Amino acid sequence: MADKKKQFAVIGLGRFGGSVCKELYNMGHQVLAIDMNDTKVNEFAAFSTHSVIADSTDEKALQSLGIRNFEYVIVAIGDNIQSSILTTLVLKEMEVPNVWVKAQNVYHHKVLDKIGADRIIHPEQDMGIRIAQHLASEKIVDYIELSDEYSIVELLATKKIDNRSLVDLHVRAKYGCTILAIKRGEDINVSPLPDDTIYEKDILIVIGHKNDLKRFEEEGM
Ligand code: ADP
Repeated sequence: MADKKKQFAVIGLGRFGGSVCKELYNMGHQVLAIDMNDTKVNEFAAFSTHSVIADSTDEKALQSLGIRNFEYVIVAIGDNIQSSILTTLVLKEMEVPNVWVKAQNVYHHKVLDKIGADRIIHPEQDMGIRIAQHLASEKIVDYIELSDEYSIVELLATKKIDNRSLVDLHVRAKYGCTILAIKRGEDINVSPLPDDTIYEKDILIVIGHKNDLKRFEEEGM
């Protein structure tokens, strides 16, 4: 199936919004970059499909940009909480299907939740958690929190499990976690079979309860 290109708009081109914009654009998506600061808008001309100067709290300005036709809008306004809230409200009133908003604190989060933000992001906290996981274990390459209890981790296969098959390791039976994929260099084996072999330095993508994942990481490999 062809990868359908999505349409994105990023409002606020600070460090967070700027990286989101660049990354989406590098992935080949259509990205409209919006900021009220002309220097920012000029800077992002090369890293977006279009970059425009606009105040996102101005409903008419957003309307004239055709923002309601975008599938995803990311609100990455930093310190100005009032502008972030007002922008989100306008976007949800315009029925933009997916509005993702960067929150500054718990109060901001609560308001965003009430006015219908589809996803609320706390980049510093999320990154802090991931960095802590990296720091705590050399085996953990990456970490995604799914809920308070469940996560997905990328684990670096150790010598202990080198040349062992999945069935041989009994990961699900012994630890209650599931190996979703095995990465080896550029290759990725999704939904691996029981007979597939793991080699040292492979990256295992594993899903499970946090306690089970910890047990597998500490005792199973
Ligand atoms: P970060 O912490 O991610 O670096 P910043 O606070 O530095 O975030 O950046 C937020 C960006 O959002 C700034 O470039 C600012 O000009 C822009 N911005 C703030 N309010 C509005 C608004 N109402 N409309 C459009 N852009 C805005």
